[in-house]
Amino acid sequence: MPETPPRPDQSSAARRAGGAPSAGHVGIIGAGQLARMMLGPAIELGLPTPVLATDPAESAAAVAARVQLGRHDDEQSVRALAAEVEVITFDHEHVPAEILRRLEQEGATAVRPGPAALLHAQDKLVMRERLTALGHPCPRWWRIAAAEDLAAALSETDGRIVVKTPRGGYDAHGVRIVERADQADDWLAQHGELLAEELVPFTRELSAQVARRPGGEALTYPVVQSVQKDGVCYEVVAPAPGLDDAAQQQIRALALAIAEDLDVTGMLAVELFETADGEVLVNELAMRPHNTGHWSMDGAVTGQFEQHLRAVADLPLGSAATLAPVSVMVNLLGGAAEDLAPGARAALAADPELKLHLYGKSVRPGRKIGHVTLVGDDADDLLVRAHRAERLIIDGPEATVVPTSPGATR
Ligand code: ADP
Repeated sequence: MPETPPRPDQSSAARRAGGAPSAGHVGIIGAGQLARMMLGPAIELGLPTPVLATDPAESAAAVAARVQLGRHDDEQSVRALAAEVEVITFDHEHVPAEILRRLEQEGATAVRPGPAALLHAQDKLVMRERLTALGHPCPRWWRIAAAEDLAAALSETDGRIVVKTPRGGYDAHGVRIVERADQADDWLAQHGELLAEELVPFTRELSAQVARRPGGEALTYPVVQSVQKDGVCYEVVAPAPGLDDAAQQQIRALALAIAEDLDVTGMLAVELFETADGEVLVNELAMRPHNTGHWSMDGAVTGQFEQHLRAVADLPLGSAATLAPVSVMVNLLGGAAEDLAPGARAALAADPELKLHLYGKSVRPGRKIGHVTLVGDDADDLLVRAHRAERLIIDGPEATVVPTSPGATR
């Protein structure tokens, strides 16, 4: 990093104060809950982490020591953040690749994960093409440029197919099951090209996470089981119940190979489908901390948010060993209660082992506003307790009938 003139702001003071074991400031683009959950570990590691937020009320902006206002797709704003830090990383994958490529070429600020890797989390067609070329297991897929392509693909299936917008999708926005070739005309007009995939008859969804440093040092977390509700991650059990050691190792090796093949730095989440015959297919990739890894904040020696920062700051990685035989995570999705405080108090009182993470977001139906985790020995018991807390917080204590004993009801 070249010498820069002293800046009359708190960040230059923090830069002089030092304290970080190696790499200096890590700028985070985007200020949602993922950025917010990086801030705690950043404080512990002594890493100053300014965030780029579009609104001061965003989840991370509301609590960050240093916030820069600006859009993630505005080059000036991204550059202004980059000028303050040694490394930039992300809360989401929506920063235009051209901006990141220019920054990377100029070399003053490291971009982690780099734009060449990130493209595979930004564009599902690029991801499918590359993983297929590398020989990694994917559902059958087709590139769709016109309704005729979709008709041809449909004729190769049992009459139903999954259509996805290549870019910008999240929480199943941008995923549609179609039975007729004209049912994606609107998306074709909007996006030009679409991804079509066989409708995988999966028995459950799994997720595998890897942390990887720029030099290639990498480690994997236990493979977890995830359950979606209306396309949104809802419940995670770590490790995935009933997945034997050989399958765990095989899937961890697959995720590691993908991280290496794509040269990912930071956290990589590989979302997977498991089928009845035990086959595992890659659904999609995320190159940042991921909802399926939230359990690790309380259930692993090194949580994914700390690990992401260690990886992108090129610090030694922390152990991903589990702290208990089972961890469960249940997302808090906005419901009846607008004020979460009474339910949160009741949930904490009902279960002293409960770990509560609220994101400081206003409540809207179905919106991710927080999560709870529990660690222990018995997944069923932990899930009952986590869902009991969920109901207290989401519905409010008055509306909730609390079971008298664990397992009595859900
Ligand atoms: P997003 O980017 O919005 O998270 P995904 O590609 O992960 O979208 O799809 C969202 C959900 O839709 C998945 O978690 C899964 O439940 C379902 N899904 C996606 N692709 C398929 C498929 N090929 N077959 C069956 N279900 C699918």
